[in-house]
Amino acid sequence: MSVLSIKNYTKYYDDFKAVDDLSLEINQGEICAFIGHNGAGKTTTLKACAGILNFDRGEILINGMSIKESPLECKKIMAYLPDNPDLYEVLTGIKYLNFVADVYGVNSEDRKTRIKELSNLLGIYDNLAQPISTYSHGMKQKLAIISALVHKPKLLMMDEPFVGLDPTATHHLKNFMKDLCSEGSAIFFSTHVLEVAEKLCDKVAIIKKGKLVASGTMEEVKGRTSLEDVFLELDSQSEEVVND
Ligand code: ATP
Repeated sequence: MSVLSIKNYTKYYDDFKAVDDLSLEINQGEICAFIGHNGAGKTTTLKACAGILNFDRGEILINGMSIKESPLECKKIMAYLPDNPDLYEVLTGIKYLNFVADVYGVNSEDRKTRIKELSNLLGIYDNLAQPISTYSHGMKQKLAIISALVHKPKLLMMDEPFVGLDPTATHHLKNFMKDLCSEGSAIFFSTHVLEVAEKLCDKVAIIKKGKLVASGTMEEVKGRTSLEDVFLELDSQSEEVVND
């Protein structure tokens, strides 16, 4: 069953077409990497799927519901982790997590277990009583990850989630992602780390200058070569177009 269905998504910023006619399906249990050069249109696409950026043409369905027509219903079952999360710095870590758990209606028993487990593994359990303003960049990233996972979203979308994480946290985040998908959720995330994408993901979508230039299962897209080779090959093709 399709958890995220993007059909002919097109987004303009004034006269500039940032994303052009992009279509993509991500099903239950699948992790899909979204890769592309800087400015290709990844954040623009993720934000539209999360319902925080309007778009001009096409349709985005979350679990069969339109993000435009039923934004609240869609948001209840998803989580979006931006590349630079804005947290309420005056709150302590635990107050922030409880606030997010309240918003999503997570009962006190479930939230306790989940917050304890995730924060222990990510190594910030002992910091949860401190104000977020005292956290390092990586600690804030970890807190934002926990807040995105606390309600076990059916669709998890993340913008470069591995940036700034230490190797242990990176390892645990990969496991959290696999666990979530094994329970029937789906994950769509952008990354520039092709080795992680290649090892972790069932699917991959490559965007170039706003257009999807390759998508499918990891095996289909990379064939007998590596994801890096495929990416570099597609990049050089675009250079030729520019040179023509
Ligand atoms: P990166 O890997 O650097 O994060 P990205 O693939 O996420 O890049 P986007 O942020 O989606 O890229 O940007 C896509 C294009 O849209 C870029 O050309 C960018 O300059 C443009 N763009 C993004 N946000 C705006 C905005 N608010 N107004 C005008 N143009 C924008």
